[in-house]
Amino acid sequence: MIPLRLLILALLLYVAWRVLRGRWWRKKRPEPEAVPDDDAMPQDVLVEDPVCHVLIPKHQALRLRRGEKTYYFCSEQCCDQFAGKPEHEGEA
Ligand SMILES: [Zn+2]
Repeated sequence: MIPLRLLILALLLYVAWRVLRGRWWRKKRPEPEAVPDDDAMPQDVLVEDPVCHVLIPKHQALRLRRGEKTYYFCSEQCCDQFAGKPEHEGEA
């Protein structure tokens, strides 16, 4: 015959183990978010080509840094055309 206190001890250990194992009874496993942070970056920002004034998605545009400003171009032709100018004149 097993002593009663041994049974109680075993039961307590079992309960403690279940508690330590995880909160399996409180909530189900949360669904993982499908969208990681990197994909949350705004990639659909439109920028204007200063040469042909076409709007391009920023992540697709060619970039040219001139001084503090960064210019975005739809194509290398526009970039070359812009870079070929001595200075961007008449800018509003
Ligand atoms: Zn262009």
